[in-house]
Amino acid sequence: MAQFSQKIKRIGVYTSGGDAPGMNAAIRAVVRVGIAQNLEVYGIHNGYVGMMENKIYPLQLRDMANIIQRGGTILKTGRSPEFMKPEGRAKAAQHLKENNIDALVCIGGDGSFRGANALWEEHQVPVVGVPGTIDNDIYGSDKTIGFDTAINTALEAIDRIRDTAASHDRLFIVEVMGRNSGFIASHVGLAGGAEEIFTPEGNTSVEKALDRIRDGIARGKTSSILITAEGQKPGRGYDLADAIRKKSGMDAKVSILGHQQRGGSPTAADRILASRMGAAAVDSLLKGFCNIMIGTEGERLVQVPLELVAKNERKSQLDLISLANILAT
Ligand code: ADP
Repeated sequence: MAQFSQKIKRIGVYTSGGDAPGMNAAIRAVVRVGIAQNLEVYGIHNGYVGMMENKIYPLQLRDMANIIQRGGTILKTGRSPEFMKPEGRAKAAQHLKENNIDALVCIGGDGSFRGANALWEEHQVPVVGVPGTIDNDIYGSDKTIGFDTAINTALEAIDRIRDTAASHDRLFIVEVMGRNSGFIASHVGLAGGAEEIFTPEGNTSVEKALDRIRDGIARGKTSSILITAEGQKPGRGYDLADAIRKKSGMDAKVSILGHQQRGGSPTAADRILASRMGAAAVDSLLKGFCNIMIGTEGERLVQVPLELVAKNERKSQLDLISLANILAT
């Protein structure tokens, strides 16, 4: 694990990449724990975009009032292709130096951590990462900030769809977020009683789903719900409905939940996780640890080197899907 020896007086905090509910609770924890430890805390707006554009401003205790319950991120987030190049990172590092920022807390996903890792390796800027993404697909942490809120938002929508599916004896396909990752799909599929769950990691097929639906009908079931992760091309739900129609003549209604899964007030679990992780990030910097991410192992907070986070992928558990299949019979 990387360490640094210089004393820190001023830290910067930023949110980067995809937004997630609970990021504000993490910012609040960084600012308030930082100030309690006699640090000055600066906010960097729009992630690496703001680092490139020198949008770096001091934050005070009162700036954190009334944000713990708000989704999104008050610091705004951003994606910066310029930061992907060494010259871009040199410019960002120069702005940090001009603002006397000694160390950073990066709240974001694995892309943001790859950027943070580069900033440490090329310019020795100490960074600690806090995982914020609704996808839960970050290596080194059982849970990421925003995931619990996203699955509860999706589940609420699925419960509503279930009411109408049952009233009309219908087959519904619900598409949830998850480009490369089936965490949201497998969790809401299990919690929502879905007959079949399609994920980027999984190996089910339209035929298997149809077999399950037909078995259900034979046992007296009159409505079914299939869940699919969006995968690389949002709209996968419509492709599945087409395939089902062609293979069986069955009509399936499609509902794409989309960006509502990113927003909304964070759940208690996400606010608590974000508060603990934000506080632990400041604590780690004060102890001289850097180039790490704060993760969870069960209930415990752990420190994971950013190189490991950047190099590895985290796949969703297929056993949840097998269990959902059994329970939906
Ligand atoms: P997330 O953090 O949610 O995974 P992205 O993958 O979009 O989101 O990454 C956010 C930003 O982090 C990018 O716009 C880019 O500026 C920076 N970034 C991503 N990958 C790298 C990398 N390999 N090297 C340097 N910066 C990176």
